[in-house]
Amino acid sequence: MKPSAFEYVRATSVDDAISALSQHGDEARLLAGGQSLIAMMNTRLAEPKVLVDIGRLSDLSYIRVDGDALSIGALTTHNTVLQSAEVAAHCPLVSAAYANVAHHTVRNRGTLGGNLCHNDPASEMPLVASLLDAELVLRGSGGERRVAAEDFFVDTFHTAAHADEILTEIRFARQGAGEGWAFEVVSQLKGDYAIVAAGCRFAMVDGVCRGVRLGFVGAGPAIKRVAAAETALEGQPVNGATIAAVAEAAVGAVDPHADMHADVQYKLDLVQALSERVLKQAASRAV
Ligand SMILES: Cc1cc2nc3c(=O)[nH]c(=O)nc-3n(C[C@H](O)[C@H](O)[C@H](O)COP(=O)(O)OP(=O)(O)OC[C@H]3O[C@@H](n4cnc5c(N)ncnc54)[C@H](O)[C@@H]3O)c2cc1C
Repeated sequence: MKPSAFEYVRATSVDDAISALSQHGDEARLLAGGQSLIAMMNTRLAEPKVLVDIGRLSDLSYIRVDGDALSIGALTTHNTVLQSAEVAAHCPLVSAAYANVAHHTVRNRGTLGGNLCHNDPASEMPLVASLLDAELVLRGSGGERRVAAEDFFVDTFHTAAHADEILTEIRFARQGAGEGWAFEVVSQLKGDYAIVAAGCRFAMVDGVCRGVRLGFVGAGPAIKRVAAAETALEGQPVNGATIAAVAEAAVGAVDPHADMHADVQYKLDLVQALSERVLKQAASRAV
């Protein structure tokens, strides 16, 4: 299929894009790498009347260490993030998760900002943003605001960004030295969307876990971090009993839906198996 007719606007600056969005309201959509939006337009799942192309705004493509944060411009491509030594050094969880995102050609054009704004429930990066307490910097006609990742991902394909706002920057909390972390994905083929993925991080203080972050992809339309599973590990050592308790809490809290790849029971089994796997891996990395 081909998309419905639309007007094409090439933005020359962020302000230019905001003004086009403000002028056209809900009828306009931003185009970044086009790797999700164009497919949706071709299948008529999205029918914007106006496409505002921000793909050439090169000032939104950068990676910077900024105090306690690693700041990444929204238009930075997947491959640039994946290949960045700075990202690997300061946020290894991002690099590990990115190794599973899509295929080389898609990663050459797709952007981190587009991925987060698309908010596919099978996408790895919204979970990573939540695990790393990321802040999303949005600019619109009302000025700039920062939204915590926990509040940004509202529901499937739905975020807290307003129709006239552009995501300009993602600020990930830098991971501490000696932190325990892991990210594991089960998909049909490497680079396909996850059937289920799990990620976690925590600090090890006097033999117990502190600041536990644990969550899943593919385990429910809006589920990222799972509070019940995090609570089961907070202040505890990682051992056979706590791993079993965390996995049980996670299985009880998630809400996966059957799809063409897996039924609900299989996904619950993956939640249990991946919980165990990421906790063991994270514990082996923690100092
Ligand atoms: C074959 C294939 C396999 C894939 N596999 C995976 C996978 O395993 N894991 C995964 O996570 N993803 C996967 N993807 C999706 C890929 O990561 C996309 O690149 C990403 O979802 C969208 O990024 P984009 O830059 O292409 O955004 P676009 O497609 O241009 O836009 C996506 C949405 O975000 C909005 N948007 C874009 N940028 C901004 C911004 N700066 N501010 C506000 N709104 C914005 C757009 O208006 C649109 O609604 C796959 C895609 C394909 C085609």
